[in-house]
Amino acid sequence: MNILEKSLRILEEYPLCDHCLGRQFALLGHNLENDERGQAIKLALTLEAHKLTFSKDREGVKNLKILATNGFSETAAEILRKMRKRVSSKDLPEKCFLCKHKFKNLDWLAKKALKELEVYEYTSFLVGIELPVAVEEREDEFKSKFDVSHGENMRNEFGRVIGKKIAEYSGKTADYKKPEVVVLVNPFTEEIRLQINPLFIAGYYKKLVRGIPQSKWFCSNCRGKGCEKCNWTGKTYSESVEELIAKPTLDATGGAKASLHASGREDIDARMLGKGRPFVIEVTKPKKRFIDLKKLEKNVNAYAEGKVEISNLQLADKSFVRKLKKAESSQKEYNVIMEFKDKITSEALNLLKEKLTNVIVKQKTPMRVLHRRADLTREKYIYEVKVKKLAPKKAEMKIRCQGGLYVKELVTGDEGRTTPSVSEILQNKAKPIKLDVLNVIMVN
Ligand SMILES: [Zn+2]
Ligand SMILES: [Zn+2]
Repeated sequence: MNILEKSLRILEEYPLCDHCLGRQFALLGHNLENDERGQAIKLALTLEAHKLTFSKDREGVKNLKILATNGFSETAAEILRKMRKRVSSKDLPEKCFLCKHKFKNLDWLAKKALKELEVYEYTSFLVGIELPVAVEEREDEFKSKFDVSHGENMRNEFGRVIGKKIAEYSGKTADYKKPEVVVLVNPFTEEIRLQINPLFIAGYYKKLVRGIPQSKWFCSNCRGKGCEKCNWTGKTYSESVEELIAKPTLDATGGAKASLHASGREDIDARMLGKGRPFVIEVTKPKKRFIDLKKLEKNVNAYAEGKVEISNLQLADKSFVRKLKKAESSQKEYNVIMEFKDKITSEALNLLKEKLTNVIVKQKTPMRVLHRRADLTREKYIYEVKVKKLAPKKAEMKIRCQGGLYVKELVTGDEGRTTPSVSEILQNKAKPIKLDVLNVIMVN
């Protein structure tokens, strides 16, 4: 059956708007919209029907009536008027069988979406379409009934047409992979929902003081609700690296929430020095994306008052967060100051250097974190240690090792759970009194 015959058979049974008729042949012809296809088919059918009226009057009129009613064709209606043939008003369908004439609303819907997007900065967007199940089922049945093999589904067409309009009116680009905003449109209920994708800002942070956790630390007693124990703050520590970076970031972006992802974490009582630790701050629902990163860096550093310092800010994306987590096991450099029970000799320190360079350390989960981590044995590699005596019972050790090594336990031995250890090698009880992370080496 050719396109015109099939279309006439469809229209005989169902009223269809130009979009919905044209969509059944969407794969035929390029650079055409479905309504243009539908219009062309209806026009060709109308001309054929008109021609028929000159020879086979009855069939011609019958087809013109189909086109004037179920085809919503003004041309067909006009020809019938001129022929003084009446179409009874009860034959006039109200709306398109498939879309209920919702394609007529698209311009209005696109403008409504743009209005809601006004408060957000973005360069790329994607349109998502939500359809009632019944509508999609109706279309599926319709397509199998008429054996539609070169068509497109309604969801696609709605998305494409609205997307085109938004792009045209806003000058922004449709992006299917990493859109900054997703506009979810339900053409049937005429509802619009916006999904504002997060903004990721990467950088390095240094923690220049001890006693601050990396992320917001909820009170274990009330789990953040606020209780007497935490002085109604909901937190165990009044500030964190995360919060010190988050506040100015939220001020700059107008986001709803900012959370920190980093490549590993230092202990609360350890500083993070050197170049700093790579991090990404994820801002949810940002209103502003075109931000001055130099200014943000300055604002964070001013706000953190020397406790935390960030540098090298740049925009990143979600994949960078995965990269950060992966880098957790790459190399780290630490500096630890140790205090010994007995006096130490320089021979002892040389021995330490020898026994802890290029060695695999076996660590059972430290007792101090056993309550929240599974009891496992980890093997971590130490590339190099350097040791320096500071006082008769004090020494400083620099360690370059695989990330994830528990340095405090490397010193104490954690009652035999970490081996080898400083205490074990020297047979002299050692404890860490100051720990700093010097560098987190990120391998891309
Ligand atoms: Zn329609
Ligand atoms: Zn509390």
